[in-house]
Amino acid sequence: MKADPKVQRRLLDLQAIDTALAQLAHRRRSLPERAELEALARELSALEDERVRAQVAVDDLDRDIARIEKDVDQVRARKSKDEARLASGSGPARELEALQHELVSLNRRQSDLEDAELELMEQRETAQGVLDGIESRLAETRERRAATEQRRDETLAEIAKEEEFKRTARQPLAGDLPADLVGLYDKIREDTGMGAALLTGGRCGGCRLEMSGADLARIRKADPDDVVRCEECRRIMVRTNESGL
Ligand SMILES: [Zn+2]
Repeated sequence: MKADPKVQRRLLDLQAIDTALAQLAHRRRSLPERAELEALARELSALEDERVRAQVAVDDLDRDIARIEKDVDQVRARKSKDEARLASGSGPARELEALQHELVSLNRRQSDLEDAELELMEQRETAQGVLDGIESRLAETRERRAATEQRRDETLAEIAKEEEFKRTARQPLAGDLPADLVGLYDKIREDTGMGAALLTGGRCGGCRLEMSGADLARIRKADPDDVVRCEECRRIMVRTNESGL
């Protein structure tokens, strides 16, 4: 393939734009926010599980407390009934004595139930504290996620803007160059990430390998219009005064 040396040198401008575009694409793929968001999603999911468990603990205690309160109500009702019968004073003495005994045991039962309820209410307070703690960690983690998403979106918008800018510059440049040269360049670039490289000091700017004497001799012999390529990496070698030829 032949191309004017000046045209060949413009491949390096094209390569600079394509390298910048590749860096932008890499930056988009490897945004630290992506990993952060994945970690936050895992954290949120674990916290959600914790929240469910803590809520179940509170609900269980509520149910136990309600059950005890119902028992206390029953004891109170029974006591009122017994007290009313005692107050009426009617009935055999043995029966009244039995009622008094029952009242003593009902009072003890009520006191035991109230102690148990108090203890459950303390447990409930602790469980509610745990739940509140998880809720606030959830809220804080969701805020962090929202902030991270915003930061990611801002960076993505910035990358898209820079890409647009580079593409706008690339279009006329590639359009000015011969189609077959750009075709070859694009093909090598798609395979290796770089289509054209500067030959500097006898070293390929693509694979960074020093050319052998035979290769240099081959390139020296080539016509300035010849499109020459690196033997190692097959990239188009652009020659300038610094090429060490
Ligand atoms: Zn090379």
